[in-house]
Amino acid sequence: MSRSVPLELIAAIHSHDKFLCVSHVNADGDAYGSVLGMIHLLRNIGLQATPVMPEPVSPDFAFLPGAEEVLLPEAVDVAEYDFIICLDMSSPDRMGALHQAAEQAQTPLLVIDHHVTNTHFGVVNWVEPDAAATCQMLTRLADELFAPIDLNAAMCLLTGIVTDTLCFRTSNTTPEVMEAATRLQRKGASLPWIVQKTLNRLPFRILRLWGNVLPGVQLRERVVWAAVTQEQLRAADCEDDDPRLNSVLAAVEEADMSAIFTEKRDETGRPIVECSFRAKPGFNVGDVAFRLGGGGHAPASGCTLPGSLAEVVDRVVALLIQERRRQAIVFEGEVST
Ligand code: 5GP
Ligand code: MN
Repeated sequence: MSRSVPLELIAAIHSHDKFLCVSHVNADGDAYGSVLGMIHLLRNIGLQATPVMPEPVSPDFAFLPGAEEVLLPEAVDVAEYDFIICLDMSSPDRMGALHQAAEQAQTPLLVIDHHVTNTHFGVVNWVEPDAAATCQMLTRLADELFAPIDLNAAMCLLTGIVTDTLCFRTSNTTPEVMEAATRLQRKGASLPWIVQKTLNRLPFRILRLWGNVLPGVQLRERVVWAAVTQEQLRAADCEDDDPRLNSVLAAVEEADMSAIFTEKRDETGRPIVECSFRAKPGFNVGDVAFRLGGGGHAPASGCTLPGSLAEVVDRVVALLIQERRRQAIVFEGEVST
């Protein structure tokens, strides 16, 4: 059941002029789609809106209208803005350097998000865990703001819906999601084009990376996982892994949970591991990620942990196995009653 848009959010937007729109590090289609969709909607009602992201725009999403305008935090004077609108992000640390800048300038935050793990860190928090994408929520916000959805906004918003639902395949793809998508299509956004630019795009080097990573894939007690080393990334000429690998693991019939672990280094050079989790319907990896300091949704979540790849994999896989066992008992209990 969708709740209504908070009146405080509508009032805050209608009574101010200058907005900064931001989303999270390691941005996905819903992060870019909601930030850029929001700037188009705000501009369509005569407001000033600037997109900012904690990292340079990924070339994968450079096709989105407005992507060329996205600024890095160091190029922004936060104090000039009335509000920062935080989209598709569950906690303020996810906006990187802009977090400290916002605290210093004491610029108030408006939060619009669908992560169940959202920490409600804004002065107004509109959080709908039932929504399939933040972009889906924005189609409703557009109506409440009387903001016309032009072609630019429609393309951005449909991209977020398509990527977060893996093209209408996730369990949260309700009739409301389909209605929102249909509306955006009617505004001119091309579904096949967006699918081609996102989910159906597989650079050859990513395929080579998977070729190197998949021999090490493991399955134990219905948890499947793979680890990606820096050496494998370098050998395949990749900067990062690709979220689609987790979609492949998530489909493994013999597993209820899946994980990809990617070896990284933080700014100070210390080893860290990015963990990305998926769960089948009836299972929940959102809680596990939240307990580990990350966040996400029941079926898809993640976190970043300090430590070597081997050490983090051992610790987290043990936790996932334990959690899957516990949830299987609860799940089966539910089914049999
Ligand atoms: P992915 O595995 O595709 O990177 O992320 C799946 C979901 O988990 C996304 O909704 C993403 O925002 C969330 N997520 C991934 N990593 C982190 C993290 O380190 N912290 C938090 N709070 N959320 C994360
Ligand atoms: Mn999202």
